[in-house]
Amino acid sequence: MEKRIFNFSPGPAMLPLPALEQAQRDLLALPGTGISILEISHRSKAFAAIIEQAEANLRTLLAIPDDYHVLFLQGGALLQFGMVPMNFLRGTGRSADYVVTGSWAKKAMEEAATQGQVRAAWDGKAGNYKQMPDAGDLQLDRNAAYVYLCSNETIQGIQFRSYPDTGDVPLVCDASSDFLCRPVSVGRFAILFACAQKNAGPAGVTIVIIRDDMVRRAPKDLPSMVNYRVMAEGKSLFNTPPVFAVYMVKLVTDWLLNTVGGLEKMEQINRRKAQMLYEAIDDSNGFYAGHADPFSRSIMNVTFRLPNAALEEQFFKEAKEHGLAELKGHRSVGGCRASIYNAMPIEGVQTLRDFMVDFCKRNAK
Ligand SMILES: *Cc1c(COP(=O)(O)O)cnc(C)c1O
Repeated sequence: MEKRIFNFSPGPAMLPLPALEQAQRDLLALPGTGISILEISHRSKAFAAIIEQAEANLRTLLAIPDDYHVLFLQGGALLQFGMVPMNFLRGTGRSADYVVTGSWAKKAMEEAATQGQVRAAWDGKAGNYKQMPDAGDLQLDRNAAYVYLCSNETIQGIQFRSYPDTGDVPLVCDASSDFLCRPVSVGRFAILFACAQKNAGPAGVTIVIIRDDMVRRAPKDLPSMVNYRVMAEGKSLFNTPPVFAVYMVKLVTDWLLNTVGGLEKMEQINRRKAQMLYEAIDDSNGFYAGHADPFSRSIMNVTFRLPNAALEEQFFKEAKEHGLAELKGHRSVGGCRASIYNAMPIEGVQTLRDFMVDFCKRNAK
């Protein structure tokens, strides 16, 4: 079999090996059915058990309160950028507050502007999106339709440590790139969504955790596929859901629960992994320059630069020879980015750290 390398891609990203192995073992026929997961009816008993278990796993891992729905939708995180304002901004006569922390929050605000009025409650642009705001920095409109934030800016590599209190104004969170990386208090949010392909499964499914009063507020004059009420009433089976992607979310969350032992454990491991790379940056005498301010550093996406573009090219080339792939930063910001989601093994991070230390020794002046 082809050897697996350490894939530091920001997404789609590495999946836990036990989940891939189980999918491989059962690919031709799911136990007890004689039918592949790729062929099975989404109305079958076997698939009902899978989607129910995926939801139950998420409810256990995140201690999701009973008055929240867990939806498995299509269209990626980007469809949520549109669905949130379609359901909760359009026609309200209010504006929505966006906390513009980086590329993804900015994109979400632009998408929302197609549906109604938006305003930036804070914008990190002047600081080159190196840091998350403190709660006191936000200029919130008490009449806003909702407040929107992105918990982890995948491209800049910055992450919230704690979330602002928005009182009665619903708080909406794009958690695409740090979903399930640590415990989170779901009750703080009206809606928390995440596309799966960073931390929860393959591309094709987006997990939306939404409070029941929001579902009931969804307007009637929307097409079914973009209406949260229709999606919730249909229990994510209004039309054919992404069957295989939901199955993989079940396997990944099985792994988180049964092998890792829950999100506190996962967070400890993630912090250890991130610390290894940030130490390599901080101990390099400026050879590696981290993008994020230390207090806003992401434990999922580590962004840094080398002294010049030629050295960066050399870095990518040599890294590849060590089985370390996909370390290029996003095309909009350049530099390097190591995405170290839940499924990146510690050995992968150790190998990268050792390589970084050695590369610095050989190339620093
Ligand atoms: C990857 C990512 C997205 C985009 O997800 P798609 O599923 O491609 O639409 C949005 N927000 C964040 C924070 C991301 O990391």
